[in-house]
Order: sequence, then C-alpha cells, then structure tokens
Amino acid sequence: MKVTEHIAQAKNTLISFEILPPLKGKTINSIYDHLDPLMEFKPAYINVTYHRSEHVFKKKADGTFDKVEVRKRPGTVGICAAIMNHYKVDAVPHLICGGFNKRETEDALIDLNFIGVNNVLVLRGDAAKNETLFEPEPDGNRYATDLLKQVTNLNSGIYLEDDIRDGFKTNFCIGVAGYPEKHFESPNFETDLAYLKAKVDGGADYIVTQMFFDNRKFFDFVDRCRKAGINVPIIPGLKPLTTKKQLSVIPRTFHVDIPTELSTEVMKCKSDAEVELVGADWLYEQSKELKAANVPVIHYYTLGKPAIIKNVVERLF
Ligand code: FAD
Repeated sequence: MKVTEHIAQAKNTLISFEILPPLKGKTINSIYDHLDPLMEFKPAYINVTYHRSEHVFKKKADGTFDKVEVRKRPGTVGICAAIMNHYKVDAVPHLICGGFNKRETEDALIDLNFIGVNNVLVLRGDAAKNETLFEPEPDGNRYATDLLKQVTNLNSGIYLEDDIRDGFKTNFCIGVAGYPEKHFESPNFETDLAYLKAKVDGGADYIVTQMFFDNRKFFDFVDRCRKAGINVPIIPGLKPLTTKKQLSVIPRTFHVDIPTELSTEVMKCKSDAEVELVGADWLYEQSKELKAANVPVIHYYTLGKPAIIKNVVERLF
C-alpha cells in the first residue's frame, strides 16, 4: 500500500521506522534483530536509507595508494524485499541522486516495481565525503526535483530510451524531505520553502521532515508550508538523543538545534546510560505532543537504538 493510502485510512496517528542497511559483510539477520522488538507496534511502513559509494585510498605493498570505490552499506532494494516478505509490512526505499546516473536510477526503479514496492522517498543525498559541495554524476540528477521528475516520468510510462512505446506505467507514491530548521545550503528559509513547494508541485505526495528536538519548529514549519500553498501531509521525523557527544555531532551533521533545556539535562548526566534516559523522556514528550496535534505519522529514526524507540512507543500507544 502507498504511504498516502495508509494515511487516508488511519483514524489515529500512525508510526513508521527508518533503518539503515547493515555494513557490508553482515547478514539480513542484523536487520531482523533490529526490527523484531519494534514490530509489535505495527508500523504502517518501514523506510530503508540509501547510501552512496565512497572513494577510499588503500595502501599497496610498494607504499603507493590505490583509489578504490566502496559502498559500505549496500542492499537497500534487497532489504525492502526482505522486510515485505518477512514482516508483511510496506517498505519505503530512499532513492538518492548522489553517486547514480539516470540509467542506474531507472534500473533501480524497475527492480523496485518488480518486487512490489510502490513507495519511494526521493532525495538529493549529501556531497561525497571528499567534496564540500554536492556534484551529481555525469548524466545524474542534480536536485531532488530532477529525480522526482524521473520517477513521475516512469509513472507516466516515459523511460529514458525514447523508443520504448507504451512502456509500463509504474505507480510510485513519492515522499520528499523538508527541513523545519532550513536546509543548510539554502540562503534563507523562504528560498528553501520555494524549492520544497517545487517538489510538491512536481508531484511529491508527502513530506518527511529532518529530525528536530523542538516541536515549535515543526509546528511553525507546517504553518509556513500551508501559507505557501503546500497542502500534502507533513510527517515529523524524530530521533532520540543518546550520547553526550551528540550535543555537538547532531548540530554539525544535521544542522539542527538542541534546545537549552535538553542540553542542560544531558550535561548533568554522568554516563551515556543516563543520557539515554533523558533522551527517551524528551522523545516521549515530543511524540505525545505531536500525537495530540494529530500528525498523520510519527517517523522514528531508529538508527541502532531500537530499545529506546520501543520504550517511547510503548508509553505512547
Ligand atoms: P533538495 O531538495 O534537492 O535540496 C538540496 C538543496 O538545494 C537545498 O538547499 C534546496 O533549497 C536547494 N535546491 C533544491 N532545488 C533547487 C533548484 N532547483 N535550484 C537551486 N537550489 C535548489 N541522504 C542519503 O544519502 N541517504 C538517505 O537515505 C537519506 N535519507 C534522508 C531522509 C530524510 C527524511 C531526510 C530529511 C534526509 C535524508 N538524507 C539522506 C539527507 C539528504 O540527502 C540531505 O539532507 C541532502 O543534503 C538534501 O536532500 P534533499 O532531497 O532535501 O535535496
């Protein structure tokens, strides 16, 4: 089922989980071990992130280096098939522009269609590790809007090879990312909002937000989206804070603020086990308020911390 169909049929706020493919060399069981404790909460769907490959330098016996390309977390498409087969739950793969040309993207979309996936979260992806600015592949998509166009084209039966007549029309429900605290590369909030609107006008069916720790920022964001004429469902994305180190890592990596009240509590903690308790309580309070505000779905970035998400969702539902 499509994400939008889940939302249309729901009487209350739904939940969804986001997972990362395991590092190369691990088995699918690491995904099941991660998800098993969470499945009793009947998530409407599960998102699986996509990771671009990276260039790394490997030292050779003669002391020189080889530049090699590695994808540390492959398997997004296969994991989606495994999740749907194992849990009978819809999977939402992320698709990124970075590191893929349009032909590879089209092939991935065809694979997804063949395995029965009809949801995608369309993203640009971040710059490669060794680059400061995002650069698309030659013949790749530059912005999420371009990738979105490729998906909507396929939904209309338009393939890259223009000699394909009467091509099968896929039926992907398309999500895109939104940033309550602005995307870090955008010169200002209004510009970012205009590009978000372009994604929705281009065919996006719903928005999932970047994590935030202050619900006011989410509510303001929704207000500003509505005023700008963005009327699709907006799904809040939440992540637990679990270590002291994250007080600086999260703002640096995700460009979001940690409220003073939360950072003050975390600073008082004597261990990361204590931080987890503070983080779980904060996540619970955020979730409770969002649920009371009737958000369509609460999307949890589980990122290796299923026990905390379980603790929070148990109290919530
Ligand atoms: P875009 O919408 O393309 O926007 C990127 C920047 O360009 C913004 O500053 C925007 O304002 C600007 N912009 C947009 N369109 C135009 C235009 N036409 N002309 C000029 N400027 C423009 N990354 C991964 O690698 N894998 C994942 O699985 C993944 N999952 C994510 C899930 C969620 C819910 C979120 C919020 C992020 C995720 N990311 C993931 C990170 C994401 O790829 C980065 O945040 C990336 O920097 C931006 O992606 P986007 O799709 O928002 O890009």
